[in-house]
Amino acid sequence: MQKEDYYIVLGVERSASPDDVKRAYRKLALKYHPDKNPDDKQAEAKFKIAAEAYEVISDPAKRKRYDQFGHEGLRGGDSRGFGNFEDIFDAFGDIFGGGGSGGSIFEDFFGGGRSQTEKRGASLRCDISLEFKEVATGIEKTIEITKRDFCEECRGTGARKGTSPVSCPYCKGKGEIHQRQGFFTIRTTCPKCQGNGKIIETPCKKCNGHGVYPKKSNIKVQVPAGIEDGVRLRVTGQGESGANGAHPGDLYCDIHIKPHPIFKRQDYDIICEFPITFTQAALGCEIEVPTILGKLRKVRIPAGMQSDDIISVKGEGFPHVRGYGVGNLLVHVVVETPTKLTPRQEELLREFAESEHKNVTPKRKSFFQKVKKLF
Ligand SMILES: [Zn+2]
Ligand SMILES: [Zn+2]
Repeated sequence: MQKEDYYIVLGVERSASPDDVKRAYRKLALKYHPDKNPDDKQAEAKFKIAAEAYEVISDPAKRKRYDQFGHEGLRGGDSRGFGNFEDIFDAFGDIFGGGGSGGSIFEDFFGGGRSQTEKRGASLRCDISLEFKEVATGIEKTIEITKRDFCEECRGTGARKGTSPVSCPYCKGKGEIHQRQGFFTIRTTCPKCQGNGKIIETPCKKCNGHGVYPKKSNIKVQVPAGIEDGVRLRVTGQGESGANGAHPGDLYCDIHIKPHPIFKRQDYDIICEFPITFTQAALGCEIEVPTILGKLRKVRIPAGMQSDDIISVKGEGFPHVRGYGVGNLLVHVVVETPTKLTPRQEELLREFAESEHKNVTPKRKSFFQKVKKLF
């Protein structure tokens, strides 16, 4: 079978920088992650091929071989090929690994569930909507959620106040029972105490002996600056409490960034369309551009500015989520043609137009030269 081109798989140019490659892969991995696409064979295949492509393109030596010889160049090499998801997580843990305040961002999305024991509390999911400004600064959000939480009444034991759980008489507190069958002894978990070795004779009234009960909680979530839309943030240990003192689950927060009326996001840059008049464009001017934090920045428009030109204002974009560097504000200049003219303005413009016949602007000159060649 013809193998897909790794650059196409990752959706990057052949000249893409290591950062671009990493970013592209992270996006794909999050999109096709098996947790997000349960029982979806197609997503699974895409997840695996993306990992395979990333393994090669992120390695300078392998990338060089691949660029020179294509898939043939990798044959017989040490390209590992992934048997299962665990391999993928192990290989690229670093890319999803953490930083940022308030819990790590990616590693846990992948690691979640691997080391959970049965009794561990359930993990929960919530949504967090953010304004652009909040993304720019980072923010602490308080999430109200109803979850099964530690019972103070019985201190999580499940036994009524003043009593304690007692040793299970069925297994004599061992948690398992041994049954002889012919030559063999079969061990099974005690059905009476579910392996705890202890039973509750008089259950706590508040939690019915579970040690946990549903209650409203306010959970503080630190959202790091620069976070991207669609990312899942993990808050360790803020899921439901485990029964009888077992480890709590985690809280996963899906990040949604609300659209902004005048700003658009492009990676860590912010794009802002800014209309100027054609006279401002021709003569040059100074404009005041709003920044994401609500300040005004003076920006010099040079004479002869064209529509769709972009002026970059350094450092007014989003901070990088891992803490180094800040994006820019890209002012996308749109030259507006006046729709209503006073008689005096029209007169001036007509005079201007007449003068233009003698002074054809450079761009028009080359344009008309090209047109002449065509016919
Ligand atoms: Zn209780
Ligand atoms: Zn028992």
